[in-house]
Amino acid sequence: MADSPVERLRAERRDTVAQIETLGQVVDGIVTAQTGTATDDEHDPEGQTIAYERAQAGALLQRARDRLVAIDAALSRVEDDSYGRCERCGGPIHPDRLAVLPAARTCIDCAA
Ligand SMILES: [Zn+2]
Repeated sequence: MADSPVERLRAERRDTVAQIETLGQVVDGIVTAQTGTATDDEHDPEGQTIAYERAQAGALLQRARDRLVAIDAALSRVEDDSYGRCERCGGPIHPDRLAVLPAARTCIDCAA
């Protein structure tokens, strides 16, 4: 049961909220990004690197916020008992798909 989709959604939600917090600080210039990804740009003036980092963080922040919306939507589907049902065809979403994408809204056929 430790790995049920609901628990994964809750864990993912926690991670996403933490990520939004961190990215928000990067965008606001409070902290610098710790992406760990090396850029190929050599010897960028620091100002440019920071602007780049902030732009990157802004894009990631947007994605994290979208993910949070999707996770919250999935959690509310859990509550009204429609979780795991395809939004388009009404059929069940395969558990394997939910294991990979706990916030999936459609079955694999409709997603294709
Ligand atoms: Zn479907």
